[in-house]
Amino acid sequence: MLFRQLFDAKSSTYTYLLADAREGVLIDPVFEQFGRDAALLRELGVALLYTLETHVHADHVTAAWLFKQRLGSRIVLAASAGATGADVPVREGDRIRFGQRSLEVRATPGHTNGCLTYVLDDRSMAFSGDALLVRAAGRTDFQQGDARTLYRSVHDKIFTLPDECLVYPGHDYQGRTVTSVGEEKQHNPRLGGERSADDFVGFMSNLGLPHPKQIDVALPANLRCGRPETEESAPAWAPVVRTFAGVPQVRPDWLEEHLDQVLVLDVREPHEFSGELGHIRGATLLPVGQLRERLGELSKERAIVVVCRSGGRSAQASLILEGAGFARVANLEGGMIRWRSHGLPVELPPDDPGSHAFGAGI
Ligand code: FE
Repeated sequence: MLFRQLFDAKSSTYTYLLADAREGVLIDPVFEQFGRDAALLRELGVALLYTLETHVHADHVTAAWLFKQRLGSRIVLAASAGATGADVPVREGDRIRFGQRSLEVRATPGHTNGCLTYVLDDRSMAFSGDALLVRAAGRTDFQQGDARTLYRSVHDKIFTLPDECLVYPGHDYQGRTVTSVGEEKQHNPRLGGERSADDFVGFMSNLGLPHPKQIDVALPANLRCGRPETEESAPAWAPVVRTFAGVPQVRPDWLEEHLDQVLVLDVREPHEFSGELGHIRGATLLPVGQLRERLGELSKERAIVVVCRSGGRSAQASLILEGAGFARVANLEGGMIRWRSHGLPVELPPDDPGSHAFGAGI
């Protein structure tokens, strides 16, 4: 089974990818991280069957609806969550299957009414959302929260799993990534050891936590499974695909058809520009080593496609340009090597190989 833990730094949210036989599920994907997670699925060759919510979140907007729109996945959420837009409303004991594996649904209310813990078929992993956190527990002071209910959920549904079962939380604010049932039974300062339900209720009613920053935006959006209120967005300037490394890219065939609409910025050295691979018609030469100091020579009015030999230096240049505020920038996937392998046209140097006539600046 393939397993990845992903992190959203803004909300300290963990997203989990589980896949088997190229069929995958994402637990608690974050709206702003859609591009990152979609790139990972694409690069690993995983078809997304489901997005699974552990609960209706108050601190970030889910990417469930976006994944459904773009990749055709189905939205799994507790039937008791009170949200609209779920494709698979689930209850205690239901199973979500992917490849040869499955996750069992356990109802663990208390942080919210609709909190679920997903347990892997062999009980080696549990995804506890905000019910049980590493050495902590989700707050119980809003969203139908109830400390006594949460105490029962954790003790009856999570602490009954094998001690060695790894517990992956919905969040962590101190860099902790995973714990185990045995560890939490022993060391959780709120719920472990000899602590009773009354001790827990006392602890939780004295937390004095601030109101969550994003709740006014996140809650209504998540009650629609992350569907935006208005769906129209500006049309993209190009079919840009962002890689898991964060690089915006376009394909050679798209560039060839839109050459007159973009600035092709070749970031190789002058001898390569006029060398045997040739260069794309109309391309402007600006070696990557000079890019930062010569940014002022480029216009933000025109979209830029960055090119190099294999797509590596141009990827770096694309990120430099984005960082400098160029909004419409993409790397040419595979560089001049890919361009040539597709049989696309190039300008080659004149017969005199010593000529640097093509080494023109901006
Ligand atoms: Fe939560």
